[in-house]
Amino acid sequence: MNALSYAFFNAVETGLRGFPIPCRTGLVSIGSPDRDAPVFLTCNYHLTVLRVKKALQGMNCYLLVANSKGYNVWCGAAGGHFSTHSVVSALTTSGIQDRVDHRRVVLPQLAATGVEGREIDRRTGWTALWGPVYAKDIPPYTANAFSKTREMRKVRFPLGQRLEMAVMWAFPFSLIASLLTFFLWPDFLLPVNLLLWGVPLLTFLSFPLYSRGLNPQAKRMERFSAYTVIFDFSKIPLILWAVFLVGLVTFGLVANHATWEFMLRWGFASLLVILIISIDLMGSTPLYKSGLHEDRMLKVQLDVGKCKGAGFCEQVCPRDCYEVDRQRHTARIPRADLCVQCGACIVQCPFDALQFVSPGGEILTPETIRKYKLNMIGKRLVRV
Ligand code: SF4
Ligand code: SF4
Repeated sequence: MNALSYAFFNAVETGLRGFPIPCRTGLVSIGSPDRDAPVFLTCNYHLTVLRVKKALQGMNCYLLVANSKGYNVWCGAAGGHFSTHSVVSALTTSGIQDRVDHRRVVLPQLAATGVEGREIDRRTGWTALWGPVYAKDIPPYTANAFSKTREMRKVRFPLGQRLEMAVMWAFPFSLIASLLTFFLWPDFLLPVNLLLWGVPLLTFLSFPLYSRGLNPQAKRMERFSAYTVIFDFSKIPLILWAVFLVGLVTFGLVANHATWEFMLRWGFASLLVILIISIDLMGSTPLYKSGLHEDRMLKVQLDVGKCKGAGFCEQVCPRDCYEVDRQRHTARIPRADLCVQCGACIVQCPFDALQFVSPGGEILTPETIRKYKLNMIGKRLVRV
């Protein structure tokens, strides 16, 4: 794919990130791989494959594209679409076993919520290694003898990603609204689009201002309600709305439009857009848990007596919650407050030393976490 096609697909599919877009599964050769060439595996979400192929440019390796029903790695694994079965099937049907002499496959770290490394090994004889969170880190990870630095394990939410999330919210809504206003109320075409692009951009660009020090398990959440999303960031969506209203009034005064009808119409429309975005503002970030329910309150509990210091928890945790003492063969969870309740550590722990516990003391065992995946609103209900 040339640079122009890449830029086109990258831009359009960034706008459509909220929807699964599948591509062909199977084996892809990158460069001139020999029998020792590394094997990487990813999901069949088109945008991911596009970006992973770009990150692998210049390497000689194989890329296995496994079926995730067109979902991205994180959502597909958490929702049960990108599973142990998807990986086993890709390894056993793609012909990769005839192309290389080793049996080592690098999986995306964010698949650890739904793909069981031990099961891959047991069912195929392939050793699953947990690669870095971001595809751009694959070349240095490979050069570093398949060893991840701490930075390679952590999810971040930098400016580029925040812009992508703003575009993901704005693009489909503005497309629908543009079609409607173009034919029915052409005078509204520009202001509606300004609103639909302006509010998401404002929300995500200002994210560092209000996210610092946030803790989704904080007491203040319990004070309101586990189900009340508007208050998850305290009153942030309302503050953003106030900022937008100030801009609206300023515009109204400058353009001589500041009538009650103008203010009410656009004030109400902007509130509606902010409420839609804030319905799952946490889930639109990789830093907090999605959903509108008490699963956000779950805490990971470590049974020190069972822990053998294998370190899988540290390898797969996207929030860097763990510290593993290799000398004493034991783990600690010093940054448990950063946990996003993904369950990856629990799924991968070979000694079942980890489990979730609810604020009411209810235990979610490793068996439950492996069996039940997250539904559309981030609740663990889907049986796989
Ligand atoms: S909790 Fe489990 S995965 Fe983590 S170090 Fe202990 S035994 Fe290993
Ligand atoms: S500690 Fe929390 S965020 Fe880290 S892997 Fe476990 S469940 Fe996920």
